[in-house]
Amino acid sequence: MQELLSEIAKVAEASPDKGEVATYIPELAGVNPDQFGIAVAFEDGRLLTAGDAEVPFSIQSVSKVFALALALGRVGDQLWYRVGREPSGLSFDSILLLEREDGIPRNPFINAGALVTTDTYLAGSNPREALGELLGFIRAAADDDSIHINENVAQSELTTGHRNFSLAHYLASCGNLRSSVDKVLGTSCHQCGIEMSCRQLAMAGRFLIESANMPPLVAALRRRRINAMMMTCGHYDGSGDFAFRVGLPGKSGVGGGILVIAPGRASIAVWSPGLNRYGNSKLGTEAMEMFAKRTGWSVFG
Ligand code: GLU
Repeated sequence: MQELLSEIAKVAEASPDKGEVATYIPELAGVNPDQFGIAVAFEDGRLLTAGDAEVPFSIQSVSKVFALALALGRVGDQLWYRVGREPSGLSFDSILLLEREDGIPRNPFINAGALVTTDTYLAGSNPREALGELLGFIRAAADDDSIHINENVAQSELTTGHRNFSLAHYLASCGNLRSSVDKVLGTSCHQCGIEMSCRQLAMAGRFLIESANMPPLVAALRRRRINAMMMTCGHYDGSGDFAFRVGLPGKSGVGGGILVIAPGRASIAVWSPGLNRYGNSKLGTEAMEMFAKRTGWSVFG
């Protein structure tokens, strides 16, 4: 397996087309696209890495997985009255379906849906406490107290996030936010600004593997359902393509990170900042395709 990871990193490093780094969040625009890392945390506790697996990056929308787990922990299945479970077939920040569907976002992994999950775990506390709880969850999952929020990234997104503000205002106009737009956006921008390396992210994802060795942070049924959401909605309008090419549940972020779960086997984190046309890591997706082919790992047997 170590040889495979090293080979994957070599192929990625040699690739002539590394995709385009996201520029709409100014702080992300300056990230060097010539970086690639991969880490695999196995269910038996082993960890293997290759490439830039120790370099911290902005996890962005990968945070939506942890936010969903936290929101479900707070309100259980009540959450599904406020957010759907269907892929949207539209870009991550689309507002299109919100009007047609009365302010109920299609799923918790598009931006509109993630604002609802953030609002859910924020309810009854303040942003600092809520973010502390989210970080606590991630740190416990990763067994790593050094995981933190990059304040510059959070502020950069907060001052330029007009689209996310408009989504939040639309949700509020439909009665689907409990806290103020400013509080929800302040919290969600800090949530997206969490910084982790591939090693830390692979470790944090272990709570989604089926294993007796993992910290029991969520019940089995919930774990399966979060994996199902990742499979169907984890890559925006590229979700079908990722399922076809990789065959494992995954969640991407515009920082170029992808968390992939091989149920019963391992949690995998891959990162390369250049994105494909769906806003998902280009080399990360290609690397996972190679990984799945060579290991034969797939939820489809
Ligand atoms: N914070 C990002 C945004 O709102 C999340 C998008 C992503 O990572 O896909 O634009």
